[in-house]
Amino acid sequence: MFTGQLHGKVERKLRESSDVGQLLVRLFLGLLFAVFGLLNYFTNVSENPVTGEKQRISLSPEQEIILGQQGKQEVLAEYGGLYRSPVLQRYVDQVGQAVVEQSIAAQTPYPFEFHVLDDPATVNAFALPGGQIFITTGLLAQLDSEAQLAGVLGHEVAHVVARHGSEHLARQQLGAALVNAIGVAASEDARSAQQAAMIAQAVNQIVNLRYGREDELESDRLGFEFMTEADYNPVGIVELMAILTESQSRGRPPEFFSTHPNPDNRIERLEALIDETYPSGIPATLEEGEQSYARIAQPQLR
Ligand SMILES: [Zn+2]
Repeated sequence: MFTGQLHGKVERKLRESSDVGQLLVRLFLGLLFAVFGLLNYFTNVSENPVTGEKQRISLSPEQEIILGQQGKQEVLAEYGGLYRSPVLQRYVDQVGQAVVEQSIAAQTPYPFEFHVLDDPATVNAFALPGGQIFITTGLLAQLDSEAQLAGVLGHEVAHVVARHGSEHLARQQLGAALVNAIGVAASEDARSAQQAAMIAQAVNQIVNLRYGREDELESDRLGFEFMTEADYNPVGIVELMAILTESQSRGRPPEFFSTHPNPDNRIERLEALIDETYPSGIPATLEEGEQSYARIAQPQLR
């Protein structure tokens, strides 16, 4: 009998082992690790309530929020700190909150915060997991309407709710290690050097992350929804892409395109989305907000 032979073999093996007990312990531990590995694999798959996608993510939304709050300090240190104008900080936060409040993003657990970075040389906007969103004065200086600003912020909010950054950390296998570091960092006032280094590494990964084509198109689509739900004219996001493309052709490419790659026909796709959503033209109730941007934001950037 096959099973009999196998049994005999295993028994011989066990007899051969100098310490049968030790072997059994090792077998048991091996089995235990395999079970935990499988459990981990299956329990880490979560369905995103906003996008409906199944995602492999190690961090819980609560851990993403803590990572974002801890990471905010790293970002401020790297990008010139918060811009000195409280008027501009408040304005950008108000536009961001308006985009969040009217959309499905308001039903997520993320406490969104929008910050202006004092960095005129960098043309960029980015989001940390958990709802911390940043835009540089370099990018703000290139805009000329509130709808363009709402377009950028909506796109970043979309990266947060679609959890693209956390998905990236899980792929880098940083997520699992971070779970512990964040847990400890949150429960104690003093962060150990190792935890701080791990959070800094994660922030660095996210800030310099080059999103994939699918992530970009998904965020464009969601960002479009968010901004229009807040009554902003979606032409703003198309104009923003055009402004950035133009500044790219004039010389130095904007950092926004290196972290948010410009998939083919991105502008055409957005225009098609507008036509599809508003077959009889963009409603007059959707605002561009050129005057408010000129009145509130631009004087603060001089
Ligand atoms: Zn993006």
